[in-house]
Amino acid sequence: MIGRKYIRAAITASSLLFLTLDGNTQEKQKQSVTRSSSSRKVAPVDAELARLRAEVIEKMKESRASAEKLLAIHEEEKTKLTTEYQRRREFYSQGLISRSELNQVERALAEAIVRVEEDKRWLTESDIAITEATMRDELLRLPGLAIGGYSETGTLLRFNGGAPWSLADTPKIEKFFLQTFGRGLPVTAFGQTATHDRLRFDHRNAIDVALHPDSNEGRSLLSYLRQMGIPFIAFRGAVPGAATGAHIHIGNPSVKAVVSADPQKECCKR
Ligand SMILES: [Zn+2]
Repeated sequence: MIGRKYIRAAITASSLLFLTLDGNTQEKQKQSVTRSSSSRKVAPVDAELARLRAEVIEKMKESRASAEKLLAIHEEEKTKLTTEYQRRREFYSQGLISRSELNQVERALAEAIVRVEEDKRWLTESDIAITEATMRDELLRLPGLAIGGYSETGTLLRFNGGAPWSLADTPKIEKFFLQTFGRGLPVTAFGQTATHDRLRFDHRNAIDVALHPDSNEGRSLLSYLRQMGIPFIAFRGAVPGAATGAHIHIGNPSVKAVVSADPQKECCKR
């Protein structure tokens, strides 16, 4: 459904086209949630785990750099197709070309818009995962919070809400957000994903939301979560060498390690 929202946004932005897509990316993510939840074992030796994570993070940063280059290429294609579409629309209105000649470039532009939106979405997801992975040690060093306790540092805002929380509570948060801001909650990871498997992180009972905790929407969401007693960790982000990665992680921290059923499984689409 998230994939469809992005596509809808892309289409609305261009006010041009009709297009449907199968939400393939999210389907894959759902599958990975199902697959991974049946595969918990004892964590390997800490040093080995740290080495493995560092390696995965390094690879993710490399993938991120290539994805950024690809985004630039896709942006350029989109710009060219937008110009071509406007040109053909003019020709069509003057009766110089057929409807099918106009449709052809219309379709190509629709696909280009989707590609750009997917690239951006992938980059955001990647930044968020890199941020959680690299800030995990800082999180572990912080003193534990009592039930209902709240703490704030320059990089992290934590709340240890006492309400029972599970992924099944997500719809009520989505409803609050939609009613308040008139748009869907920008969830980038729902429960365990292939990326968390690869990093050996237990993210089974958490969601990530692509909102900066200091933005209006972010602040409003955090105060709603506190009101409801739902635990969260908000990352102000700022990982050197990467884009911000700021986000709100709803649920308890992913400090527990898990072992993936298939360590060779690729996490990333690039
Ligand atoms: Zn998270």
